[in-house]
Amino acid sequence: MDKDKLYISALSVSEGVNQPPSVNPNLRKVKRAKLSIKDYVKGILEGDRVILSRAITLVESNLPEHTIQAQHIIEKCLPHTGKSIRIGITGVPGVGKSSFIEAIGNYLTSHGHNISVLAIDPSSERSKGSILGDKTRMETLAINPGAFIRPSPSAGSLGGVARKTRESILLCEAAGFDVIFVETVGVGQSELAVHSMVDFFLLLMLAGAGDELQGIKRGIMEMADVIAITKADGTNIDNTTRASAEFRSALHLFPLGESKWVPQVLTCSARNNTGIQEIWNKINEYRDHTNSNGYFFENRKQQALYWMIETINEQLKANFYNNEQIKTKITELENKVLHDKLSPFVAAQKIIEFYYKPGKQ
Ligand code: GDP
Repeated sequence: MDKDKLYISALSVSEGVNQPPSVNPNLRKVKRAKLSIKDYVKGILEGDRVILSRAITLVESNLPEHTIQAQHIIEKCLPHTGKSIRIGITGVPGVGKSSFIEAIGNYLTSHGHNISVLAIDPSSERSKGSILGDKTRMETLAINPGAFIRPSPSAGSLGGVARKTRESILLCEAAGFDVIFVETVGVGQSELAVHSMVDFFLLLMLAGAGDELQGIKRGIMEMADVIAITKADGTNIDNTTRASAEFRSALHLFPLGESKWVPQVLTCSARNNTGIQEIWNKINEYRDHTNSNGYFFENRKQQALYWMIETINEQLKANFYNNEQIKTKITELENKVLHDKLSPFVAAQKIIEFYYKPGKQ
């Protein structure tokens, strides 16, 4: 085509100016800058979210060098921990956990609190991040400067995931968060793990579904300090009022726990923002009650001991099962057990003896 013609044509395309890169080319460098333990601790104590996030990433990492770094950071932060109230929240998927956390989180930050939201979902890798992994959850809280939201550590053993979350609680406390929520789905063992790291346990329930339907076991109901019936709005209000009366009478049958706190049943609506403040008031009542009878700190001490033992268990297991010679030995003896050549107990004994004295066999 004639070059001059193209020039005057409406279809001509001007050369334009060079566009700046869409991503700041220095960002990677800044992100990757190595921090010393001192930098991490200083950043966390100053409430720097980016550094807090990076420290949690170290806590969650399975690389031994990261684990060592993380332990140093936690140790240095420890004197600055413990000043928050730790609240566990559970309930079946769809009960309204994230909507509730968003409502109470925004309420609390508007009253001067700094809140963080952590999660335990050992299945998160399998289900592609069912908890907090979905970016559309807690949209307003995610951009609230008073809130810090962290998805569940990715899949691993429940013990491993739970330990990581517990350590993240400590880092969040050192960073100045005074209310910490730990969310979990109400379908398995993870409630027990959450219960062993929080001060207060909130169970969210739907009205109109029998508790078998909701998959909530009696044991989980017994752990609850407050049961809140969600979605108390619109035409559902009568249902929630009825359900709360039913739960109240069911709870009467349970003996009081060590805290001597009488579990309460409330209703709430995240949609209408009702009942949220009442739940927060109950949490404070619980804190006062357990502070005055000494349970609050006694419970934390017991939890610390529990986590010491849990960590030993977890590390012993990891050391055992990650040992290449043990893996080979297990495969070898597995076959004998499968073909009835060896009893499972004798096989186990042989493997354990081999672990302690590999040269002997
Ligand atoms: P989660 O899976 O337990 O975290 O539940 P979500 O917070 O994602 O809520 C599940 C569904 O229930 C969503 O469709 C919400 O819009 C709805 N929902 C949550 N809270 C309320 C509420 O207070 N009232 C009503 N009517 N619906 C709600």
